[in-house]
Amino acid sequence: MMRLEQQAQRLIENSYYVDSAQAAPRHVPLQGEVQADVCIVGGGLAGLSAALELRKRGMQVVLLEGRHIGWGASGRNGGQALAGYASEMEPFERQLGAKSAHFAWEMSLDAIRLLRERIAQYAIDCDWTPGVMSVAVTPKKARALHAWAEHMQREYGYTHLQSFDAQQTRSLIASKRYCAAVLDDFGGHLHPLNYTLGLGRAALNAGVVLHEQSPVISVKPAAQAGGGKAQVQTAQGSVRARHVLLAGNVQLGDVAPRLSRRIMPVGTYIIATEALGAQRAKSLVRNRACVCDTQFVLDYYRLTGDDRLLFGGRVSYSTATPRDLAATMRRSMLAVYPQLSDVKITHAWGGFVDITMNRAPDFGRIAPDVLYLQGFSGHGLALTGMAGQLAAEAIAGQAERFDLFTRLRHKPFPGGDLLRTPALVLGMLWYRLRDLV
Ligand SMILES: Cc1cc2nc3c(=O)[nH]c(=O)nc-3n(C[C@H](O)[C@H](O)[C@H](O)COP(=O)(O)OP(=O)(O)OC[C@H]3O[C@@H](n4cnc5c(N)ncnc54)[C@H](O)[C@@H]3O)c2cc1C
Repeated sequence: MMRLEQQAQRLIENSYYVDSAQAAPRHVPLQGEVQADVCIVGGGLAGLSAALELRKRGMQVVLLEGRHIGWGASGRNGGQALAGYASEMEPFERQLGAKSAHFAWEMSLDAIRLLRERIAQYAIDCDWTPGVMSVAVTPKKARALHAWAEHMQREYGYTHLQSFDAQQTRSLIASKRYCAAVLDDFGGHLHPLNYTLGLGRAALNAGVVLHEQSPVISVKPAAQAGGGKAQVQTAQGSVRARHVLLAGNVQLGDVAPRLSRRIMPVGTYIIATEALGAQRAKSLVRNRACVCDTQFVLDYYRLTGDDRLLFGGRVSYSTATPRDLAATMRRSMLAVYPQLSDVKITHAWGGFVDITMNRAPDFGRIAPDVLYLQGFSGHGLALTGMAGQLAAEAIAGQAERFDLFTRLRHKPFPGGDLLRTPALVLGMLWYRLRDLV
């Protein structure tokens, strides 16, 4: 089977984001041994956010990226900045109690505030557009969606939600597919690669030492490496650091096998249409909010700054890319917007999300001096920013907020390394069938 990294590389080759990315500096690979307070593995949003926060606290930070900044999920995602968690609040409420669940919810809102602050502070040009719409495709799902909105308003005091019936939904979205919607005006959407590259620039300007093309091959905590410092090894160099943060998402693999068993790489894919012109684009989604349905295997889409429709969905639990990706995704798009049958598809790409068994994020330590952030479960665009901030706080000695997440229990996927994917494929087929009824 093709290695995950090769598949991920193939999946980025026809990305709209890469074609519309702003110029970014390249960073030389790590050579020889260097010293740092903190070594971060992974140049996605989680690693860059932590790097920025650690520099604010005056620490020397070296960040190692195996490919280049934004190569992973951060530079290829749906661009939807969402409140809350992929798991919803249930695992927090059940495992940690109501007070901690409320605190976790507030942190997810702080994550969106942080993202918007950073766009302004670092003048990142990434087409931020407010509005997130959740839509339901059956009356049963519509009732569940409206009940969820009422629950969030009542129990969490969240006042940013507005519920719409079928007719109102159709006046906002030019599709017959939906029978209800809930608009969240606090979240929004953006060009994720330009946002990630913007954070990379900010990290560089703040004094973070960045090395690209530097895949980490091993990490030893101080207790194993000796000399009072952890050791992070690449093919041509090493970093000795008082702390290490692993933010490598699904690509981390053999560097920390214990962690990899707790997440499953799930492929998800996006197409871009040609530019539609402002009027035609707006006719699809009148308020230009991004849209996500509530199916288990969901469609998600949004309009870009240059008036294309980016339409995402179709998951692959076996990690194999669907055959003829663009045509397959186009069929999904036409099921929602048949009026786009004359429109050309210019790009098709994808990536892997790091889902946990319960879909709640998985943050923690594999040694006292080695922390990790993973398991964003397709909900990490905003949350990674907050996660990086929490990891930096924990490294600086204030671990209270970070440890709220480390108290969440996560099970490894059943079946071990060889069987976990086939077992999941079967499990997910069941959920797909459930979407049909
Ligand atoms: C197609 C797609 C659509 C998505 N849509 C959304 C969405 O609309 N909204 C949302 O909230 N979330 C979405 N997500 C999820 C979101 O993109 C992720 O949760 C988030 O980007 C994770 O950031 P990260 O920094 O943890 O990981 P990544 O961005 O994947 O970064 C990890 C980096 O670590 C590097 N790395 C790994 N191992 C090593 C190593 N050994 N040595 C050196 N470097 C290493 C990788 O090369 C990579 O660049 C989507 C994801 C995908 C793939």
